[in-house]
Amino acid sequence: MTVTLDWLGCATFRLTVDDLVIFLDAYIDRVPSAPPVGMTTSEVDRADYVLVGHSHFDHLSGAEVIGANTGAKIIGSNETARVMLDESIPREQLWRTQGGEHFRLSDSVTVRVYPSLHSCIWTTGSQDPGEVVLGQCCLTEDERWPPERVERMNQILNSAAAIPGSRVGSDVHGGALAYMIETPEGSIFYHDTSGCWSRIVGDLRPDVAVVAMAGRPNIDGEPIQGSLSQFVGRMATLLKPRHMFLGHHDAWMPPNTRDMTTEEALTPVWEELSRVEPRTRHINVGYLEGTKLFV
Ligand SMILES: [Zn+2]
Repeated sequence: MTVTLDWLGCATFRLTVDDLVIFLDAYIDRVPSAPPVGMTTSEVDRADYVLVGHSHFDHLSGAEVIGANTGAKIIGSNETARVMLDESIPREQLWRTQGGEHFRLSDSVTVRVYPSLHSCIWTTGSQDPGEVVLGQCCLTEDERWPPERVERMNQILNSAAAIPGSRVGSDVHGGALAYMIETPEGSIFYHDTSGCWSRIVGDLRPDVAVVAMAGRPNIDGEPIQGSLSQFVGRMATLLKPRHMFLGHHDAWMPPNTRDMTTEEALTPVWEELSRVEPRTRHINVGYLEGTKLFV
């Protein structure tokens, strides 16, 4: 059995298990200023499933194209399903989940879904993985969302809605999800935003983990008091994977996002990983490199 993972930019990946094709998120058609990933959603001619981590445009957009062209089943939250119904994806193609489900994807592959957390969009993070960010702890929703923050978020979402390829998505994340894909060769953890419930994630033991590195990470409902590197390290100590890939860390929407794939940006991440979980091997990949897993 051959298992291959391709990064398609932002937090989008394509996982191929022999002839089973599973997209993890679907945001491939990006702004013209973003580096091209080497394919477009309209070029996707094979897909069996799209697993959607949450409903923001930079994750969900493109699922409507892949779903319409290939008939792929789209697995995601109720909000993801609502957006896809608005895009005329047939109801029977939509598998709704909120965490707790265990779906069969083929004779030999299944996926378990877990509740997860979105990064803390009520506060800003850093685009320097080594920079420690403190504060904004223990706030209630009214304190997290003062009028100026709401206005700023609306500006961002309205400007995003005008971007080609970003039309499809929700102004709410719809509940972030994490997935454990189980194949005969090994298991793969996937989430698409920097957050986790540590007591859920801490019980999982994937062979491979795909960890999102962007924004201000959210651990158990509070912003991390630390850096993106420390979040990645925390995920490694919780999951204890043999191999780890990063996601969401490229310049997917410049100038608003910074390229965190460079050796310089990643050095503090690898240093933190080797300090806290030295058995985890990090794998740094470019777009569409077709990395073989479990070899
Ligand atoms: Zn999001």
